[in-house]
Amino acid sequence: MLIVQKFGGSSLADAKRIHRAAKRAIHASQGGNQVVVVVSAQGDTTDHLVSAAAAVSTAPSKRELDAYLAAGEQMSAGLMAMALESMGHRAVSLTGWQAGLLTDGVHTDARVLGLVKDRIRRELDAGRIVVVTGFQGINADEDVTTLGRGGSDTTAVALAAFLQADKCQIYTDVDGIYDRDPRIFPDAVRYDQIGYDEMLCLARQGAQVLHDRCVELAKEHGVQIQVLSSFRPGPGTIVKSLQ
Ligand code: ADP
Ligand code: ASP
Ligand code: MG
Repeated sequence: MLIVQKFGGSSLADAKRIHRAAKRAIHASQGGNQVVVVVSAQGDTTDHLVSAAAAVSTAPSKRELDAYLAAGEQMSAGLMAMALESMGHRAVSLTGWQAGLLTDGVHTDARVLGLVKDRIRRELDAGRIVVVTGFQGINADEDVTTLGRGGSDTTAVALAAFLQADKCQIYTDVDGIYDRDPRIFPDAVRYDQIGYDEMLCLARQGAQVLHDRCVELAKEHGVQIQVLSSFRPGPGTIVKSLQ
């Protein structure tokens, strides 16, 4: 089985959490499964990078902003691969361009077009857990692009679609999709499953738990997404076609 697991920023905020996520990936790999881990930048790193860019330029070019913002995910990927190695597992980190995730040329809000290299496959076949930076790709001019805030979800679904993964798991800081933000509304109700269209409405209304483009891509390619908590056990929510 091929499993894609994505860990968001709060799931990777410190060394302990990175180890916890690494353990999940190793657990998923047991029994001969191939695992691709997609990582976001740690904690509030991307917000800090945005502020640091604003401090040097009031109007940074979007190309350079992308080159800079993509670094947050690169740091996480290196840390995750080191954590996996420290636990005795073979692992390799890949940036968006090393993985071959091609996007259009719209800097800071690029759309994923395809996977144009077989590097991930080769590394999986060599027995490694492959850690891929979320949120970033490369355009036809070989410039780094980013996919819009929250875009690591889209990386995970895109890789699940292009690699024809059997599972796409998104680990976050809530234990599934609710009818409203459970952090603001304590009486919010969790869905066991939710259809693509309903999820798309929630995402477009601003529910940041899933990036709207990731839901569009999942619908287009028929990728089932499981949204789970990094911190609490539970079934989470399955996003799928309910027709
Ligand atoms: P990650 O860093 O893992 O990508 P995000 O912060 O992007 O996590 O998304 C998770 C957050 O989405 C939750 O902490 C929650 O506050 C928020 N959220 C907003 N609307 C919803 C909803 N309908 N269901 C679940 N979470 C929601
Ligand atoms: N690090 C990026 C952001 O904060 C992407 C993501 O977390 O999905 O928006
Ligand atoms: Mg997110």
